[in-house]
Amino acid sequence: MVTPKKSAFYVALVYTCFLVNHACDHDGVRFGYSGSTGPNFWGSLSPNFLLCSKGMNQSPIDIVKDKAIYNLQLEPLERDYTATNATIVDNVFNIALRYNDTAETIKVGGIKYKMKQLHWHLPSEHTINGQRFAMELHMVHFTEDDNITVVEILYRYGKPDPFLFQIKEQLAELHAEGCKAEKGDPLPVGVVDMTELKQGGDRYYKYVGSLSAPPCTENVICTVLAEITHVREMSKEQAADLMAPLEGSYRHNSRPLQPLNGRKVQLYDKSLKIRKVM
Ligand SMILES: [Zn+2]
Repeated sequence: MVTPKKSAFYVALVYTCFLVNHACDHDGVRFGYSGSTGPNFWGSLSPNFLLCSKGMNQSPIDIVKDKAIYNLQLEPLERDYTATNATIVDNVFNIALRYNDTAETIKVGGIKYKMKQLHWHLPSEHTINGQRFAMELHMVHFTEDDNITVVEILYRYGKPDPFLFQIKEQLAELHAEGCKAEKGDPLPVGVVDMTELKQGGDRYYKYVGSLSAPPCTENVICTVLAEITHVREMSKEQAADLMAPLEGSYRHNSRPLQPLNGRKVQLYDKSLKIRKVM
């Protein structure tokens, strides 16, 4: 028999689950990945999001390998990633690591950019020859005057990703906090070893695109790491942990492919470069 005390407990339990899973109050969050706030409507949700519908250089794109132009002038990625303090934050539409004053830098085209944050998309946003991957990591870097470059790493499911071991506890904490996490201060993670993310880069695709979420800012240099024979891996469990703190409708946070509109994708391939030089 369910006593009044017990039934009050069940009501509280159901209500709590409801709050955690579905009923976060989204101050200031205006976009989603489905329904009336989904990607097709982003451009009309705010004047600040206009580029999402009107921009001609948007991301993500399908990269067609045979159409990528091999560019002998491109250089290997010069990433000065070591170890640095980070915080983790539930942005409602993704989980991100933030780097406040970091020495983690990347040089693209001779210009130095500082790492500001990194976050994950499920499934991947970019596709290679139409093939979609399990996940995509975006590492977002800025110059002092706000030029942006994003390094995009595609993952398939497989063995666990050592980088993600470092934030396992904090992800569980964000999940436990539910809605509170969306409005709370970022959780400190402590020193995060970034060297793991330096690997891979013998082949990359480069094009001029945009942020793939509102405000869809353009003129972003996108570098997609996609070594087809050497794709990075994470376990399914890790992917689920990364998405668990998010509400159900944000656990698939991948923007549909955008038209190229005449843009060219360039290819850097270390092995080709060596062959051509010799
Ligand atoms: Zn992103």
